[in-house]
Amino acid sequence: MPVAAAGLPTVAAARLPSTAARLPSAAACVSAAPRVPSAARMSIPSGMPFSTAGVSVAAAGLPAFAAARLSRAAARMSVAAGVPVAAARLSASGLPGAGRGGFFLRVEPVRSATLCASARGGNGGPCRTASRHRRPEIAWTHRRMDALMFEAIPAHHTLSLLLTFGCTAACKHCGTFSNPGAHTSLDRDLMLSAIDQAVESGYLVVVFTGGEPTLRLAELLCAIERASSAGLVTRVVTNAWWAADGNAAFEMAASLVAAGLAEINFSTGDEHARYVPVENILRACLGACKAGFRTICVMVETVRGRSVTAATLTDSPAFKDMVGQFPDARIHVLESPWMPTSPSNHAAYPDGMAANRDNLARRGGCNSCLTTTTVQADGRISACCGLGIRSVPELQVGHIRTTTLRQADEEAANDFLKRWIRVEGPERILAWAATHDERIEWENLYAHRCQACLRLYKDERVRNVIRQRHTEKLADVLLAEWLLFRYDARVAEEA
Ligand code: SF4
Ligand code: SF4
Repeated sequence: MPVAAAGLPTVAAARLPSTAARLPSAAACVSAAPRVPSAARMSIPSGMPFSTAGVSVAAAGLPAFAAARLSRAAARMSVAAGVPVAAARLSASGLPGAGRGGFFLRVEPVRSATLCASARGGNGGPCRTASRHRRPEIAWTHRRMDALMFEAIPAHHTLSLLLTFGCTAACKHCGTFSNPGAHTSLDRDLMLSAIDQAVESGYLVVVFTGGEPTLRLAELLCAIERASSAGLVTRVVTNAWWAADGNAAFEMAASLVAAGLAEINFSTGDEHARYVPVENILRACLGACKAGFRTICVMVETVRGRSVTAATLTDSPAFKDMVGQFPDARIHVLESPWMPTSPSNHAAYPDGMAANRDNLARRGGCNSCLTTTTVQADGRISACCGLGIRSVPELQVGHIRTTTLRQADEEAANDFLKRWIRVEGPERILAWAATHDERIEWENLYAHRCQACLRLYKDERVRNVIRQRHTEKLADVLLAEWLLFRYDARVAEEA
């Protein structure tokens, strides 16, 4: 589909084909698009509200083809030309507690400007468009869009708990800076309170990780029990240090199953294997199968020239035996880039793995940002479960002792940059920043999105571009959010 080429976030693009297929040709769309005065195409100053779907799309700098189609899609929702659908005030300000230089791009709804002109004209009665179409739900749609465009994205559903920063391994570039000498651990009561809050807030999944979460086995089992008995899906991420022999592997897996654990993830690769042999992973997988796990995932570090690969596991006789023995078990062995936890330290990756202009269109938004809320071992709450987030003040949105999960999620969702990362991903933002400052190099440096994200937050040049130019992306981001989270194909179909 050409929508992908239009530079839309992958997920948004993925949602478009069915809509686009029903739309008239691009030429017809152009004639249906609102007339946008040339002044409206100019950059939108920080702090100024903007409105009108057509203006938004045009100002976003989307290719004319995509803009036309999206304008037409908006018109189909009866968000017709001239009807304000979006207004926001953006302000860059210091995030309290983020330290000197921290920045937080706060999104504030401009309520008076967000009302549907037609609905407003009717003093709260059915809007004119709705009357014309005899579709009261369209009036509702107008108001719903007004209300929702700037509210928190309703996507927080995974709670990640870092039980401890302690670990049996000391991998170079550990994403949580864990090691055997780290003793910071999450207080048991705070952990249980976080789980209870997650249940109340409608979360679906709890991930127990670290460091090595099984170093706090009693607390881990208790927390799994609490979460699973409340109906949450539970997952443990471990390096399988405990699978020294078949019995030990089975006993650990069985105790986790007995507590209610649903999924188990193992981490391995060249760095991990310096501390935990790959054979442990094979024994742990077998123990997990015997204990009754049916969803098992193994994540293998990937850098150029590595010696441990996914095939190291899947081609081994032990693995093949296990698959034959447990045909119902879903054992996923995946490779993931192993990233340095500094944006200026670059690893070598297999060809085509690092982001560049040729593969940028395939880089989507970050599906952890504003979706996963992490409570770290020191109690800080973060807006995602990314690697290296301990070192980014702006990704911290509270402390579990003083902030509720709900407050933390709201705080996170009020930050434009996080919402932007959510829908476009850090690589695209980096590429966009480079169009404004040619000294920003980004191609073929980052294979893992979190390392690109560290660059956004830590490189002063990139930060400056974001600070000074972010308003030009406002329409893009809101439109992508609308497509991802608000667009209701059924209403569009009826309209
Ligand atoms: S095993 Fe995982 S948590 Fe432990 S040091 Fe290695 S990467 Fe970090
Ligand atoms: S890309 Fe950024 S926001 Fe997303 S998980 Fe990584 S660090 Fe977090």
